[in-house]
Amino acid sequence: MGKTVTAENVSAYFGTHRVLNDVSLTMQANQATAIIGPSGCGKSTFVRCINRMHETVPSGKMMGKLFLEGKDIYKMDPVTVRRNIGMVFQRPNPFPTLSIFDNVAVGLRLNGYAKRSVITDQVEKSLRMAALWDEVKDRLQKSSTGLSGGQQQRLCIARALALEPDVLLMDEPASALDPISTLRIEELIEEIKQTYTIVIVTHNMQQAARVADTTAFFLSGEMVEHGPTTQIFTTPRDQRTEDYVTGRF
Ligand code: ADP
Ligand code: MG
Repeated sequence: MGKTVTAENVSAYFGTHRVLNDVSLTMQANQATAIIGPSGCGKSTFVRCINRMHETVPSGKMMGKLFLEGKDIYKMDPVTVRRNIGMVFQRPNPFPTLSIFDNVAVGLRLNGYAKRSVITDQVEKSLRMAALWDEVKDRLQKSSTGLSGGQQQRLCIARALALEPDVLLMDEPASALDPISTLRIEELIEEIKQTYTIVIVTHNMQQAARVADTTAFFLSGEMVEHGPTTQIFTTPRDQRTEDYVTGRF
């Protein structure tokens, strides 16, 4: 089951340059929260703070607090964080030297799964959840590089789901894909959000409207407004949100 992620007064910096300013936001368990806003407003930095990737950038600094179901993410050990908070990036990035099977299995092996039958079952389950099983079940030992972009992205989702995380962060997961692959990713999000907490960064407002229960609008490092997705798109409270969703900037 998913767990709630809470950001409290999160600010993020590259060196002395502040790119997130005092963001507080609750991302509910078993829902999809969309993060929207213009390029450079801090969406990626925000999700990278959630899984502690921001601190791996030499100049990256974060202030404030992030909680996973009440537990301080920055007091958890990084292995636990990575295990419980999965991430899918804009460009599909399967391990090119590994087979389709091993792309999903590698994380399981690294996390102590040893029994072959258990790994095989979990790989199948993950590929099914990512709606990829039927397309790859006869070529599991083949390289992942033979897959289409959309299939590669679903493989990355399967890889992220294999360890049964509580949270799945998706940073523009479909923006490098064709429309049909995009639709499949959106359908997939609709299905899996019942059991995970999904945080999806998207610059595609129709996509947010289709998949997200709530939407947060970011502007210049600030979280301007967060609410039910329909409300954000039809009756936003803040003029800046209205200007953005109506395409005025
Ligand atoms: P978004 O995902 O909304 O487009 P980002 O979180 O990627 O925005 O970027 C927020 C700000 O941080 C931008 O001004 C960007 O130029 C800056 N930034 C992003 N990555 C780095 C980095 N590695 N070093 C310095 N500045 C960065
Ligand atoms: Mg980004």
